[in-house]
Amino acid sequence: MKVKMTRRQLALMMSQAMVAAPALALGSRIGGPVGLEERGEQDGHLQAQAGAPVYVVLWFDTEDYMLPESDDAAKRIADFLSGQGVRATFKVVGEKARVLEARHRNDVIASLSRHEIGYHTNTHSQQPTIAEYESVLDWELGAEEFDRRERSGFDDLTRIFGYAPTCFGQPGVSWAPQAFLALKKWGVHVYLDDGQQVGLDGKPFWYGGLLNIFGIKAGQQLEPNEDWSNLDLAKENFSELHRQMSAQQAGGLVSFMFHPTQFISQVFWDAVNFSKGANPPRSGWRRQPQRSAAQREQAFQYFEGLIRHIKQFPNVQFVTASQAYALYRDQARLRSFEHEELEEIARQVSSRISFQIHDHFSLSASEVFALLNTLVAESAGNGMSREVVLNDTPYGPSSAAYGAGSNQPSEVSWSQFSRTSQDVKSFIEKNRSIPNVVWLGSSAVAPESYLLALSSVAERLLRKEPVPEFVKIAAAELAAGQWIAKDSISIWDWPIFPAGFHSPHLMELARLQAWTLKPALLPPR
Ligand SMILES: [Zn+2]
Repeated sequence: MKVKMTRRQLALMMSQAMVAAPALALGSRIGGPVGLEERGEQDGHLQAQAGAPVYVVLWFDTEDYMLPESDDAAKRIADFLSGQGVRATFKVVGEKARVLEARHRNDVIASLSRHEIGYHTNTHSQQPTIAEYESVLDWELGAEEFDRRERSGFDDLTRIFGYAPTCFGQPGVSWAPQAFLALKKWGVHVYLDDGQQVGLDGKPFWYGGLLNIFGIKAGQQLEPNEDWSNLDLAKENFSELHRQMSAQQAGGLVSFMFHPTQFISQVFWDAVNFSKGANPPRSGWRRQPQRSAAQREQAFQYFEGLIRHIKQFPNVQFVTASQAYALYRDQARLRSFEHEELEEIARQVSSRISFQIHDHFSLSASEVFALLNTLVAESAGNGMSREVVLNDTPYGPSSAAYGAGSNQPSEVSWSQFSRTSQDVKSFIEKNRSIPNVVWLGSSAVAPESYLLALSSVAERLLRKEPVPEFVKIAAAELAAGQWIAKDSISIWDWPIFPAGFHSPHLMELARLQAWTLKPALLPPR
């Protein structure tokens, strides 16, 4: 994966660099040059343009529970947007919501409530943060620990704002795959954030059972520079993005974010307290220096000017996390797959196991596995039904395929293979995941090899050919793993982590969940 800084890392860097840093290309154009004729274009001119829908997810990490002035910043942003008829998503930290309550800021709570509330952890940067505490845990225990540490803040938000948060995003780049398992159990459908751990061409995708609006490329060029003086360039960048997306068949999605505290602070609230693993007691917390009145006004002018600019395009729609979830509704889930479709799905399986994109739906590798295994298991039992329903996205294996492959047979009898398919069907129903190994009698094979064999058997069955006497077993790999970053210090670059933090274990767990990865598709127009 391409290494780039996340916008959060950039924001931290920008605000911490107390000097102007012209070399940092934040204000420079991303996404190609704009033609001269477009540069001179007037606003009225733009209104005449229309095309495919351009969806804009605007979100705010609302997290500073130290500086009371950040409450007012959040309120001003929320009220401005309400006045503009724009709904955004405010991802609120549990402690921030509790502090608003304790400070009797019902006005701020009411202003935020007019938008959509997401969740942004219980205490954000207090140590240990998510990736740290998850880095020593496996898949299931990690999900339980996430639940133990983060659930109370989620419940507080539900109580304070009157409904359960619709999305989640990690603090900084403190990402962990186990969070997905817990979040889905909580009924959260959307992961809304930024980072480099997983990504699919910078566009929305499904991973870990959630819709991920994560690491979206379109929108990163709308970020403010250090002194928020790049409004004109940001407007031009949006116009260019808009032009590109309007011309796409189904349109596209732009995602960009701010921190309310960023409008008024010279440095981040957590950087002065929890940097490099520091964890002072509450009595030792310090407040960050603030921007001057003129600097604050400049920041709000940037933001308000940019929103007014984006709003004027007739085919732009601001959408919240839950609206994005409805837009990108997974067309494969609960769908009945007929034999003709299953034959095509089986035909597309190769030794490089990955997701599939069909006419109006996409399938993760684990979904392909479940569909084809159900079909083969049925044929070995009472006979194939006319169609197979995909109930859910099975998770990837919870651990590597220890011991598999070393004495992998080159073929196995149909009798054994068919009995195994029934065993695997039972495993998926019980555990809602792909097994880490598949037992062909006493031989353990990797699930990738099993899926490859499964696809050839399924094809034969669907073509009404006689079952083979022996099924060939060959090596296969999870090619979808290429969308998961390799562990490195750079993907965990966040000043709150202890120096040098990284986690090969978390990235190994993340790669196993590449079984659940697939593109999120907008419906055809
Ligand atoms: Zn945050």
